[in-house]
Amino acid sequence: MIKAIFIDIDGTLLDFEACVEESMRLGLTENKIEYKPEMLETFHRINNGFWRDLEQGKITFEELLERRWATVFEALGIDLNGPEFETYFRKRLHESAIPMEGSYETLEYLSGKYRLFAASNGPHEQQVERLRKAGMLGYFEEVFTSGKIGEEKPSPYFFEYCFEKVDILPSESIMLGDSLTSDIKGGICFGMKTVWLNGKGEKTELPVDYEIKSLAEVKNII
Ligand SMILES: [Mg+2]
Repeated sequence: MIKAIFIDIDGTLLDFEACVEESMRLGLTENKIEYKPEMLETFHRINNGFWRDLEQGKITFEELLERRWATVFEALGIDLNGPEFETYFRKRLHESAIPMEGSYETLEYLSGKYRLFAASNGPHEQQVERLRKAGMLGYFEEVFTSGKIGEEKPSPYFFEYCFEKVDILPSESIMLGDSLTSDIKGGICFGMKTVWLNGKGEKTELPVDYEIKSLAEVKNII
């Protein structure tokens, strides 16, 4: 019997892409650089590469922060200091909390049936603050973040830490998230059931239990 749902934050409850776009646009505008939508694509391509390296343990989170904007600006031919922009960007992101469609209804529905935990790769204070700002924090018994735990999903240590804190078995839990490489892979390897929010209709070989296109479908399956 399922007792608890662990829910990813970015790309699942909060619209990370919208938050990133807003933070990048405001940051560049403040530096008198005209923002163009294709710049966002460059950021995503480079940022995703860094996060993949981080998930595979090839770099540390500090290295990601130190290098990603310098790499983006180099690719775009923009003359700005990467680490300085990172500081600004993270401050904006810290304050940015744009909800995904259907997130409030889904939390309301799930909280009536299950114990809810947030499980996110990201800095602890930032993620808690963004959930608070979005009015979602109250739904969660606890917010688990890689920032606090010291390891990223899909690391088994991340999940070990969570399950040591709660008196529930992995087999009685669901991991709900948008990332195959962190949420779904991590959940499967730890013996949890998985719900993959696959808004873009991607394909996978992983044995996902449930696949949904939007959060509104959650109530049809669990
Ligand atoms: Mg995510």
